[in-house]
Amino acid sequence: MMFIDHGPGKSIVRAAVRLSWPIMTAAKRLSNVPFFKWLIRPFFMRPYNELTSIPIQVKVDSPDSVVLPRRILERLLTDVDDIFVLDECICRTHNRTDIPPQNIGCMALGPAIHRIHPSHGRMVSTDEAIRHMHRAAEAGLIANIAHVWIDPVAFWTRFRDLMFICFCDDRNCLYRTYMKSRGPTLDKAYRRLPGMNLSVDAGKCLGCGSCTESCFLAAISMVEGKARIGESCAGCARCVETCPSGAITLTFEGEEALYKGLLMRIREISELPVRDT
Ligand code: SF4
Ligand code: SF4
Ligand code: SF4
Repeated sequence: MMFIDHGPGKSIVRAAVRLSWPIMTAAKRLSNVPFFKWLIRPFFMRPYNELTSIPIQVKVDSPDSVVLPRRILERLLTDVDDIFVLDECICRTHNRTDIPPQNIGCMALGPAIHRIHPSHGRMVSTDEAIRHMHRAAEAGLIANIAHVWIDPVAFWTRFRDLMFICFCDDRNCLYRTYMKSRGPTLDKAYRRLPGMNLSVDAGKCLGCGSCTESCFLAAISMVEGKARIGESCAGCARCVETCPSGAITLTFEGEEALYKGLLMRIREISELPVRDT
C-alpha cells in the first residue's frame, strides 16, 4: 500500500542516482559532439530542465540598502503551503563527502510532495524551512530553483506540481559539475534570475583569472588582461566571492523586482501554487 501511496524510498532513489550519475556526466561531455548534442539537448532545455540560481550565500547592494538574496527565498517559502525537506543531499552522499554537510538536503515544494516517500525526510513548517535555508547559506551553498525532469522520475510525482530548491556546492552537485565541458546547446540549462546583473570593474581587475576557474559554466573570459562576463552567466555569484580585489559586483533593482522575477519564472514553468503577498 505504501508503495502505491508514495514513490520509491531512499535506498531505491540512491541506487537510481548511482546508475544515472555516469549517464548524466557523459551526456554533458557528449553535448559537444555532432549528432549526440541534438539527442541530449531536450533533457537540458525547457520544459524539462529549468534551473535558476539564487545566490543566498552573498549580500547584494540594491538601490536602497544591502539586501540578502535569501530574503526572496524567505518570501517564497512563506507563500507556499507544501514544503518537504530531504534529510540528505543525494549528491554529497553519493560522493561520500561531508564537506559541505550531507544533511543539508534539497527542499521540495508543491502538492506533489505528498507522494514523496517518508524515508527521504519530512514535511516542515515555514519557519523550519527558512531555518534550513539559512543553514545552507551559512555553509556557503548556492540555492537553485530546479524544475527538472529527473525529479518526478525519481520520486514518481506529477512534474508540474513539483519544484525543488536545491542547496548545491561546486564539487559534488550533479547539476553544477561537468558544465564547463558542455556544448553550446546546453548554454540555456541555467538561466539568470530576471533583474540580476553582474559587472566587472576593469579598474579593480588584477587579471588574476581566479574568477574564470571558479565559474562552473566557464562564462568568464579574459580580454586584454581583464575579466569579462558572458551571456551564459547564471548569476550564482561564486565569482563575486572568489575575486580577491572586489572587482565583480552583483546588483539587482530591489527586493520587490527580484521577487516578482522569481514568481514569473516559477509560473512560466510549473503549476506550483504560490500566494503573492
Ligand atoms: S542537486 Fe544540489 S542539493 Fe540536490 S542533491 Fe545535488 S548537490 Fe545536493
Ligand atoms: S578574480 Fe577579480 S581580479 Fe581576478 S581576473 Fe577575475 S575579476 Fe579580475
Ligand atoms: S560568471 Fe560568476 S555569477 Fe555568472 S555563472 Fe559564473 S561564477 Fe556564477
